[in-house]
Amino acid sequence: MNTGKGLIFLGPPGSGKGTQAQELSKELNIPHISTGEMLREAIAKQTALGQKAQAYVDKGELVPDELLLGLIEERLNEEDAENGWILDGFPRNVPQAEFLDQLLQKLDKFSEQAINLEVPDEVIIDRLLLRGRKDDNEATIRRRLEVYREKTQPVLDYYRQQDRLSSVDGNRKLQEVTKTLKTVVA
Ligand code: ADP
Repeated sequence: MNTGKGLIFLGPPGSGKGTQAQELSKELNIPHISTGEMLREAIAKQTALGQKAQAYVDKGELVPDELLLGLIEERLNEEDAENGWILDGFPRNVPQAEFLDQLLQKLDKFSEQAINLEVPDEVIIDRLLLRGRKDDNEATIRRRLEVYREKTQPVLDYYRQQDRLSSVDGNRKLQEVTKTLKTVVA
């Protein structure tokens, strides 16, 4: 039975996924699960995971799957994720997307929908430099965009081929993007 709503937010760094995921999470009353946030928290607390992940995050590389997959599985099994969730930053490569599909088959109650927020590169770089997070320096941003093209773009094709992808123009005012997203996920 498909009773839960599983939303997967895709889009390059700086596309506004995090902000929009947060808005929609409030609106739909389902948790916003950001792997980037989870990793930054683990790094701040210097947990075992945080210590292993730090160098990758600082360089703009993907953290190895084996560090993240268990974490995601645990998070999706938490009580607040029972009726749905918004994933932000996961899956970021095809093996992660396949892992998620297997996991959801086990949970057997989610209709998944992937949403691609489209924003041109020049806009992204400006936005990220303005944001100024520790990994928002020019070299790391450039690397994150490369990694996005290499590893995450194929995830878009993965969902597109299964007819599970919607694309939304993310290069508009925040509220306008939110409005469109609400109709797309309704
Ligand atoms: P952004 O999308 O703006 O680059 P995120 O907060 O989503 O930022 O991610 C920050 C960093 O965390 C990434 O550059 C990467 O190092 C790591 N990361 C986040 N999610 C994943 C993931 N699913 N797989 C591997 N690494 C990840």
